[in-house]
Amino acid sequence: MRSSASAPWPEIFVRRMKRWLGEEADAFFRALEKRDYGLRLNLKRGDLCAIQAGLPWRTETVPWCPEAVWLKATALSAGPSPGAHPYHTAGAYYIQDPTAMAAAVLLDPRPGEWILDLAAAPGSKATHIGARMQGGGVLVANEVSRGRASVLAMNLERMGITHALVTNATPDALSAQWAGLFDALLVDAPCSGEATFSRDSRALNAWSLDTLRGYAARQLQILNQAALLVRQGGQVLYGTCTFSPEENEGVIARFLGVHPDFELLDLPSLPSMDRGHPEWIGASEELEKAGRFWPHWGPGHGHFYALLRRTGAPEEDLPAVWAEQRIPGRARRLYETTLDQVLRIPPPQKGLILTEDDHCYITPVDPARWQRLPVLRPGWWVASLRHGKIFPDHALAMALTPEDVKTTLRLASDDPRLKRFLDGGSWPDQGPPGYVLVTVDGYPLGWAKRGGGRLRSRYPVHLRRRRALA
Ligand code: SAM
Repeated sequence: MRSSASAPWPEIFVRRMKRWLGEEADAFFRALEKRDYGLRLNLKRGDLCAIQAGLPWRTETVPWCPEAVWLKATALSAGPSPGAHPYHTAGAYYIQDPTAMAAAVLLDPRPGEWILDLAAAPGSKATHIGARMQGGGVLVANEVSRGRASVLAMNLERMGITHALVTNATPDALSAQWAGLFDALLVDAPCSGEATFSRDSRALNAWSLDTLRGYAARQLQILNQAALLVRQGGQVLYGTCTFSPEENEGVIARFLGVHPDFELLDLPSLPSMDRGHPEWIGASEELEKAGRFWPHWGPGHGHFYALLRRTGAPEEDLPAVWAEQRIPGRARRLYETTLDQVLRIPPPQKGLILTEDDHCYITPVDPARWQRLPVLRPGWWVASLRHGKIFPDHALAMALTPEDVKTTLRLASDDPRLKRFLDGGSWPDQGPPGYVLVTVDGYPLGWAKRGGGRLRSRYPVHLRRRRALA
């Protein structure tokens, strides 16, 4: 049933939040209706000031994430929305709630680590973690839903992440194969989504006390698998975008009750981050170590975080990034000669594999480790073999800079050819034949192919369709 006093929020939700927030409740309910946009600038796209200078909106820095800016929806002038701007298509930024950006800041992934994002789609936090790892180490981005895993793969490609595997497995299937393999995990758990109420009517309509109890049970199950996947001395960051203590402090308290080999760590202090509130559910005072972001305390809509550590020292070193090759000699030679004509840099070689469906990937993980799992992308998709020819893939283009390729076409944001390229069109062009990296202000958009006096877009059909629907 809905509250008449604070429509449109569910009445019980309103009563609970008023009880817990007291004098702050009015500000909280007002802020719950706001719409802030966070734009996380892509560390992989070079100079962040240059990206910011090219944006048509006045923005402010997100206080806890130096590579991100934000603006209120009311500050969006006429012109493209952040999702329709060509810089978004070029992976120069990711639209992400500012409070969700705290995940990668708190997890603090380092180049060279093995990191698993267990519930990763659509990829806002996985792409952030990947950018902060600077291409070093291994990122596994897992998503249990097949459709959402495809979107996750697209977003990792758009943001130019080259060291990620995308898996489409249940947490149990992963823990059966990869127990103790990860330095750190993110469990951004499915939740009742109270912080998304103003944007997500499904979360709002589905809300009930029973629903959030169901989520709490599922969250604990997922965390139990995370406990198997992290190595000794490793960390698990748990997060939700909901306020209910049953799904937050309550889940962590229950987890610690059955996992004596885990401890709750203090979170580094971040601007505008509140402590955990165990007193709301009579849980141990220790849960104050968790962190909460509120919509009325700063930019963004709200998140909960808790950082767990598996006690003990790591037993052995994790495997090195896989640097061998598994590709027949003829295909490898074709790959090298084709990409030599396109690239100024040497074609990527370490970790090169040819899959059964004739795709070339650079994988950071020994195939023997992932061959029995449902893997959507074993790494960076660099090329495909078709009819005896090698075709450079879109994901290759999205991780390159103009300096990496022999021929670039640099378009400005307002160049009419930009739309023609993204629609898959062509136009007269008399330059030498071959592949051309098309960019907007130097940020990669994809390949075009020149020949016969025309430049033809190779922007992928499935991405054209997505743009048309947006
Ligand atoms: N981390 C993502 C991001 O930042 O873009 C958002 C993740 S969303 C909050 C939670 C995800 O958990 C959803 O994609 C959902 O499909 C997935 N999920 C649902 N049930 C699950 C389960 N039982 N085990 C693992 N993941 C599950």
